[in-house]
Amino acid sequence: MFIVGEEICKKTIDRESAFKAVEAVFGAMAKGDAYNFPVIREAIGYQDALYGFKSGFDRAGLTLGLKSGGYWPNNIKKGLTNHQSTIFLFDPDTGQLAALVGGNYITAIRTAAASAVSISHLARKDAKILGMIGAGHQSGFQLRAAIEQRNIEKVLAWNLHKNMLPALEKVAKEAGVDFISVEREEIGAQADVIITITSAHEALLMKDWIKPGTHIAAMGTDTKGKQELDAQLVGQARLFTDEIAQSISIGEFQHAIKEGLIDKSDITPIGDVINGKNKGRVSDDEITIFDGTGVGLQDLAVASSAVKIAVEKNLATKVEL
Ligand code: NAD
Repeated sequence: MFIVGEEICKKTIDRESAFKAVEAVFGAMAKGDAYNFPVIREAIGYQDALYGFKSGFDRAGLTLGLKSGGYWPNNIKKGLTNHQSTIFLFDPDTGQLAALVGGNYITAIRTAAASAVSISHLARKDAKILGMIGAGHQSGFQLRAAIEQRNIEKVLAWNLHKNMLPALEKVAKEAGVDFISVEREEIGAQADVIITITSAHEALLMKDWIKPGTHIAAMGTDTKGKQELDAQLVGQARLFTDEIAQSISIGEFQHAIKEGLIDKSDITPIGDVINGKNKGRVSDDEITIFDGTGVGLQDLAVASSAVKIAVEKNLATKVEL
């Protein structure tokens, strides 16, 4: 079996390969060729940590495995990232462990790839202004992947903690786009594409602020109780997600479902758009929302690519079990 650590993952997986792997697995999920197993996430009562498993099997890509890890809020004081995870890949023919892959960089790049895939398939072709709500660890990854999907000229950003914005501004400047820090209403009024990537537990974008034709990638809500969008906004938009079961239970659409504003049948898996089964955006005026809840198969798909490339480039460490 092979070990592919965090640094090797950075050398093997770029934004383009992550995009391709995530787009392919979303397509496979919608066809029923790949499925995620129920997620386990527990507060372990130690270090205030949340720990869990996300696993699945992709019969088309022959990828079987799990991502294990979670959130250790005290890590920051130790100079470590709060989110920690490792990916285990198994040989689907024998069940033997095939690879251990660092999960931190892969989580960041696959989450960015998911919002990028949604922008690629759902945003207006003439989108020029990107709105960013959130400026934490993930935000720079999301920004970089998003601006490659359209001719983005300007980023408008808001974050609750203003001291975090300069780091995101640096990413934008390095990528060659203008960056302006504004209020949330201004983002709603101007942005053609908006990414929300925060740990908020209440709506940050209200229905009346959003201009027609906007595409929103809601990426922060991945647990019961978290929320970034006004449920009324969700209620009036065309809705897409990575996986419907997660979207209505732990994703952004949980709130509009609970309030009776939408039905499960109003939500389309983005894989249907990728596969050409659903048209996606049908008018320049409609608001589209992608609820990126984060599925284990995204991690497995990108980890599998990382192992393949690392083995080809002789960068993976081979270990006998
Ligand atoms: P982070 O801890 O680095 O940053 C947190 C961000 O949320 C910061 O911008 C912070 O200012 C903001 N924030 C915190 N509390 C807030 C509040 N009450 N209201 C508004 N903003 C608030 O985290 P990160 O790694 O950047 O991840 C951001 C979010 O995305 C987290 O909720 C994380 O769980 C989620 N996430 C989702 C996926 C997915 O696949 N959907 C993947 C990774 C992370």
